[in-house]
Amino acid sequence: MSAGLVQAAYIVAAVLFIMSLAGLSKQESARNGNYYGIAGMTIALIATIFSPDASGLGWVIVAMVIGGSIGIHYAKKVEMTEMPELVAILHSFVGLAAVLVGYNSYLDHGVMTDAMLNIHLVEVFLGVFIGAVTFTGSIVAFCKLRGVISSSPLNIPHKHKLNLAAIVVSTLLMFYFVGAEGSFFAIFLMTLIAFAFGYHLVASIGGADMPVVVSMLNSYSGWAAAAAGFMLANDLLIVTGALVGSSGAILSYIMCKAMNRSFISVIAGGFGQEVVIDENADYGEHRETSAEEVAEMLKNSRSVIITPGYGMAVAQAQYPVYEITSKLREMGVEVRFGIHPVAGRLPGHMNVLLAEAKVPYDIVLEMDEINDDFPETDTVLVIGANDTVNPAALEDPNSPIAGMPVLEVWNAQNVIVFKRSMNTGYAGVQNPLFFKENTQMLFGDAKGSVDAISKHL
Ligand code: NDP
Repeated sequence: MSAGLVQAAYIVAAVLFIMSLAGLSKQESARNGNYYGIAGMTIALIATIFSPDASGLGWVIVAMVIGGSIGIHYAKKVEMTEMPELVAILHSFVGLAAVLVGYNSYLDHGVMTDAMLNIHLVEVFLGVFIGAVTFTGSIVAFCKLRGVISSSPLNIPHKHKLNLAAIVVSTLLMFYFVGAEGSFFAIFLMTLIAFAFGYHLVASIGGADMPVVVSMLNSYSGWAAAAAGFMLANDLLIVTGALVGSSGAILSYIMCKAMNRSFISVIAGGFGQEVVIDENADYGEHRETSAEEVAEMLKNSRSVIITPGYGMAVAQAQYPVYEITSKLREMGVEVRFGIHPVAGRLPGHMNVLLAEAKVPYDIVLEMDEINDDFPETDTVLVIGANDTVNPAALEDPNSPIAGMPVLEVWNAQNVIVFKRSMNTGYAGVQNPLFFKENTQMLFGDAKGSVDAISKHL
């Protein structure tokens, strides 16, 4: 393939990636968005493998077959609830790839002089730094999401000073690295610092801020890819990396706004977030109900709002939820869904599950669109949601989730909470909603409970 053809293929691929992102921004066009992305990536891979600069085609194919088989195996096996973990670990690969590409271009940069060499060394240094931070940060995010390490923030003394010191020392090392025309000591020391910095940055972020961290690491992985693109002088990798980097940054910003968090404070590791959890607080008694009673209550309601959360995903309860929705709508009951922006474990998690179960899009509303309607609602079904319906976010300034807008379900006439126990949600804080006068708990696996209600309906 000639160099001109490769460049033309790269431009087509870049346009397809942009169309893919545009498609993914709406549920109706998301499927097409995926197809554009697949087409763009196929063109990009073919053009890269057959470009005049490429060598060792045999090795590339072997690597692709091995990597592709592992990828297909895991993509088929992964549960929807494990998706954020998969995304986090994939980000770590991008980070590691940027580190390896960086070391490779450092060790083998061909003949370069003066300004060219200096620019190349800066690219290498920054690429390795961003890649190393992304690598360890993503591994910590993976472990937190998987529950291997606690989701509560790591609070080592002087943590902000340590972060600042890591940045300052790395910057000084960069000057030394460039001045010494590529000192191995400087790049190696910086890599170790960046690994530790990435680990600390994500470890010190608390559970409630994890959604932002996941999208922020997405953004970092994009910048790491763009840095690798500069080192390899590959225009498409630069464009793709910049697209991922900026869309991840925009998503992080949107999620921060949705959670009423300051972006800077989240990425600086919960700056100023000194909260105390009162584990001995007395919340009072909770009341329990049965599937039969809930079915009766639903039949007598005019309007019902369902607010799903992570537990609905774990239980795979979206299908029976669709069933009761259809039955109630046939009985003339108005049923709508209220979706919190960070419900579940990844942006859009609930929308994907409900779409999978064929719930019509027009009854699935965002939190802002439905929050004022709770006072006129007869019954709210909180299915596996916890943090996203926690009144403490509004009422308790000491709560770790204080200030986060939540679905104000308690304003409805009756609230039924579907969960298996009185355990806390992801942020690890108790939920006063469970003890309110108008709340009743329906204990058990959400799928079983919703199935039982469906039978009684
Ligand atoms: P939560 O994680 O707060 O709570 C989920 C609840 O579901 C738990 O209390 C659990 O209670 C219950 N549950 C679990 N399994 C089942 C089951 N099989 N049947 C019935 N209930 C079940 O959920 P939310 O969706 O309300 O909140 C999301 C949280 O995750 C927020 O804190 C958010 O910040 C965080 N997060 C969100 C991300 C995103 O991008 N959306 C990314 C990372 C974190 P029990 O054990 O008693 O059954």
